[in-house]
Amino acid sequence: MKHDFQDKIAVVTGAGSGIGAAVSRQLAQEGAEVVVADLDAEAAHSKAAEIRSQGGRAHDFAVDVTDAAAVEKLVEFAVQKCGGLDMAVNNAGIDGVRKATADYPLDNWHKLINVNLNGIFYCMKYEIAAMLDRGGGAIVNMSSVLGSVGLPTASAYTAAKHGVVGLTKVAAMEYARRGIRINVVGPGWIETPLVSEQMEAAAIRRIAGLQPMGRRGRPEEVAALVCFLLSDQASFITGSYHLVDGAYTAH
Ligand code: NAP
Repeated sequence: MKHDFQDKIAVVTGAGSGIGAAVSRQLAQEGAEVVVADLDAEAAHSKAAEIRSQGGRAHDFAVDVTDAAAVEKLVEFAVQKCGGLDMAVNNAGIDGVRKATADYPLDNWHKLINVNLNGIFYCMKYEIAAMLDRGGGAIVNMSSVLGSVGLPTASAYTAAKHGVVGLTKVAAMEYARRGIRINVVGPGWIETPLVSEQMEAAAIRRIAGLQPMGRRGRPEEVAALVCFLLSDQASFITGSYHLVDGAYTAH
């Protein structure tokens, strides 16, 4: 076991698929009790069941992170059912349409900002309160390489992911002396349904080629960084943005 998460309680959003599912699996393998939260209730249910079938502790919870009241209920669930909240991974996110800025449809803009930026704010708002009650905690927010560089035709996604980096820095400074560490992770292109389901094989190969390592990352490679940042091994790391991108942003 790399980290000791025994007696720790975690909430992971977007945990029914991809990176969130990998993070939930690793947290549970390392001893945490995990609330597997996702918009897709069925996916959350099956991922939690999979963790339990492997001897881990997990509950599923259906949540839409764009609904602040529902996010509050998610945190209440962790506190009431599991006894508190020590760790949170605010990972739920969607991809947007690809359009130049002047052509970007307003409804797509609002939807993307709502999930990828407002959702992270709602999660932190309630998680931080619960962690303060417990005397501390650790949060990792999911941004992207597009939290530091831009991608033409991805204005909403890029703006939201840059916003998550800024939001993380502010909250980390606010709670640094109160026992809560808050960091943000920027994955490059990762093998998950977020990208694969919407693209043809040739486009996926082209994207993999943009990363100097010549391949896309695996969800487990992102989970390894997230779990390190949540662990006591990262006790002096807060307010910072950590890339896991096969050198995509080193260009
Ligand atoms: P994924 O496989 O599509 O998983 C995302 C999960 O979030 C899905 O189960 C999705 O449910 C759920 N979700 C979507 N909207 C939600 C909402 N409003 N409330 C709660 N859950 C919601 O995606 P992923 O690739 O693992 O991405 C996870 C995070 O990493 C995202 O924030 C993404 O922007 C970021 N990221 C991904 C990559 C990449 O290359 N894959 C790169 C950089 C950053 P549905 O399936 O029902 O929509």
